[in-house]
Amino acid sequence: MKDETDRGGDEAAVADRRDGRPSERAAAAQTPSDRSATFYVPHGPDFGERELSQAVWRGWRRRCPACGTGPMMKNYLKVRDSCTVCSEELHHQRADDGPAYLTILVVGHVMAPLLGAAWAAWRPDPAVLATVFAIGTVSASLWLLPRFKGMMVGFQWAKRMHGFATDLVTTAAKGKEESA
Ligand SMILES: [Zn+2]
Repeated sequence: MKDETDRGGDEAAVADRRDGRPSERAAAAQTPSDRSATFYVPHGPDFGERELSQAVWRGWRRRCPACGTGPMMKNYLKVRDSCTVCSEELHHQRADDGPAYLTILVVGHVMAPLLGAAWAAWRPDPAVLATVFAIGTVSASLWLLPRFKGMMVGFQWAKRMHGFATDLVTTAAKGKEESA
């Protein structure tokens, strides 16, 4: 539980910095208890927790995780800055090389045993084997890569990772001002 809270705090701090706000100065002006209250990202059903499996499934279909309708990608792999249908901000995503890692992990673990099995079963001409597997591996990778990227963006959106938590931080700050 404590771990969750700490991580939420870190992400909020990152989101704060991305906003271009001078978090160091702001933090210095506050007492330690104020600081933890500001950087804490509220989570749970009362704060609009997002459904993970739905968001990941929508990402697999390369749709916006918020509405499930708008296309997530522009061209092949570029994530849109915001959804064309519901205007949900998607530029907060930090999939980085995660999708490539997942693609290699899956394609490698499927193709390597298949290569061995095909050789053991049919002893094809090596040129034929190499050609078939080269085409198969490249096709599978190109098919999976944008889908894994969509899944990762959906995951980050549902978990309010990175800048996806910005609205919560703003809401929390507003609520704090009102209660003060
Ligand atoms: Zn949308």
